[in-house]
Amino acid sequence: MPSPLCHGLIGLTIHSVTARTDSDLRSPFRAGGLVLASVAPDFDLLGGLLDGRIRHQGASHSLGFALAVSIMVLFWAFYTKRKRPWFTAGITGLAWILHVTADYLAKDTCPPFGPQALWPWSLAHFAFPKPLFLSIGRRFDWSTVHQNALAVAWEAAVIGPLFVWVWRLKRRRLQEQRS
Ligand SMILES: [Zn+2]
Repeated sequence: MPSPLCHGLIGLTIHSVTARTDSDLRSPFRAGGLVLASVAPDFDLLGGLLDGRIRHQGASHSLGFALAVSIMVLFWAFYTKRKRPWFTAGITGLAWILHVTADYLAKDTCPPFGPQALWPWSLAHFAFPKPLFLSIGRRFDWSTVHQNALAVAWEAAVIGPLFVWVWRLKRRRLQEQRS
């Protein structure tokens, strides 16, 4: 699985790509919401704090769960009278499903390997045969620290420049529209 940094950067990239105004782009609430949706599928790992068993890549890592989250966000957006509720629900679902996609593209060293991407329609786990991202280890020893540092550096090198490029391009376009 990739690190929270990788998922967070993907969330910020979605935020930048989908911002329609300068205030959208500079909104910490909007950026934070999309980062949260990008990272949240991994909250299943917190269950392991209770009984020591590692849980990851289950139902929260699926198209079905992304759909359920989108529907909840849609209700919330209508209830709070936000502008463009369908769009807000859609980009939240996109952030969620791109977490699943990043996990699918990452090396996984803890079984079951890969996300349960098609839950509830299928209980199968899916893992890409040629991983793009390295695995983040979940043990507390020096070799895991070394492996994780390498994995995070690689993620920053792949996703970091993409995010910076998209954000700068979007900011320039929005400034041109204003002037
Ligand atoms: Zn995950």
